[in-house]
Amino acid sequence: MRIAVVGTGYVGLVTGACFADLGHEVVGIDRDAAKIAALRRGEMPIYEPGLAPIVARNAAAGRLSFTDDLAAGVRGAQAVFIAVGTPPLPGAGHADLAQVFDAARQIAAALTGFAVVAAKSTVPVGTGDEIERAMAAVADKALFCVVSNPEFLREGDAVKDFMAPDRVVVGAEDERGVAAMREIYAPVLGPGRPLLATTRRSSELIKYAANVFLAMKLTFINEVADLCEALGADVGDVAEGIGLDPRIGRRFLNAGPGFGGSCFPKDTLALMRSAGEAQAPLRLVETLVEVNEARKHAMARKIIRACGGSVEGKTIGVLGLTYKPNTDDMRAAPSLTIVPDLQKAGARVVAYDPQGARAARELLPGVELATDAYACATGADALVVITEWDAFRDLDLGRLAKAMREPVMVDLRNIFADAPMAALGFRYEGLGRGKRQV
Ligand code: NAD
Repeated sequence: MRIAVVGTGYVGLVTGACFADLGHEVVGIDRDAAKIAALRRGEMPIYEPGLAPIVARNAAAGRLSFTDDLAAGVRGAQAVFIAVGTPPLPGAGHADLAQVFDAARQIAAALTGFAVVAAKSTVPVGTGDEIERAMAAVADKALFCVVSNPEFLREGDAVKDFMAPDRVVVGAEDERGVAAMREIYAPVLGPGRPLLATTRRSSELIKYAANVFLAMKLTFINEVADLCEALGADVGDVAEGIGLDPRIGRRFLNAGPGFGGSCFPKDTLALMRSAGEAQAPLRLVETLVEVNEARKHAMARKIIRACGGSVEGKTIGVLGLTYKPNTDDMRAAPSLTIVPDLQKAGARVVAYDPQGARAARELLPGVELATDAYACATGADALVVITEWDAFRDLDLGRLAKAMREPVMVDLRNIFADAPMAALGFRYEGLGRGKRQV
């Protein structure tokens, strides 16, 4: 099928490249001319494992092309996916839908024949209706139908998730929309990978409810970690013990410094706002937003305590800045709260991240960026693990300890263990690993 994808960010680029790999003819469209120029040169604007070769082989085969001219890209497309950003509006946290409506109006003006327009961006319930109205003001209604097709991929595993989805959700008020989506996704559907067809509003809510549920699971185990520290229990064992119950499940039960990223923070806020406006407030979500925000500041205080109560004039080495491993995405990363808190308390912060340095330069002024973990540790009064990059697990810990001024390690992801770290001479502190009081 001939497909246009508007927006070539984390979601749009993966979507376009994977659709092309499934045999469709895809044009990736972005208003960011520099991004398009880079893609045409074969350069990847984001770090996502496995994506570059897919883009390269489909571009070479002529199935995938890129343009900053939306009208040209949309011309002749049978399906147009909207994959533009929906960031939080400053202040209240409603989803900012300006990019979505902008794209919808431009798509409407460019249509030359019937196309299914699929909203892949995460949008509040009712946005599909509004997209339809906005498009109808520009184009004949017979030229399009609007479906909701939320995306569930995880950055860092995006290609795998897209090619082997748990489910494809399609919300449509028009059978032609569901039929087109079935055809497009046919190669990835199968046993255990269903396409769930529902109404547009239910589909829009499924995306928010899924993200908020996952954010709640993380927030729950984070609070349990604090309780473990207070009561002398171990959060890893507790997570294991409850996770073995299939009704609970082990995934998303790793305690950490608070959730961040491009989706959970903005989606929890946006759902909380729409629920309030619909006079159906979600009290659990309101609390989880508050708890998560407070947690990031609490992590900075934990680090300061581990440094003897003050970091004034001390050097703190930070391992990992991105909101999770295997991405260069720094949006709403916990490091963006923890690091400035440490700086405000008088620390000099030196950080190393395998992929986050480019974004960090702008987002974390005053932070010195080291070229590797050993340089980051050199002369440090404490090392803090904020992101659990796999490469950190393979570090020569003895060498790290020797390079530091004080061998203090605060591991906010529990990638190391108490006894071996103590044996190496570290004063080590994980998360939620309470000491037994006897
Ligand atoms: P992004 O900011 O990385 O990419 C959006 C792209 O759209 C940008 O390159 C921007 O230049 C482009 N754009 C904006 N308006 C445009 C227009 N009118 N014409 C052409 N291009 C335009 O965003 P993202 O992380 O890819 O997220 C996109 C959407 O998908 C969001 O709604 C997000 O919530 C949702 N989502 C994201 C993820 C994720 O892991 N990042 C996962 C699932 C869903």
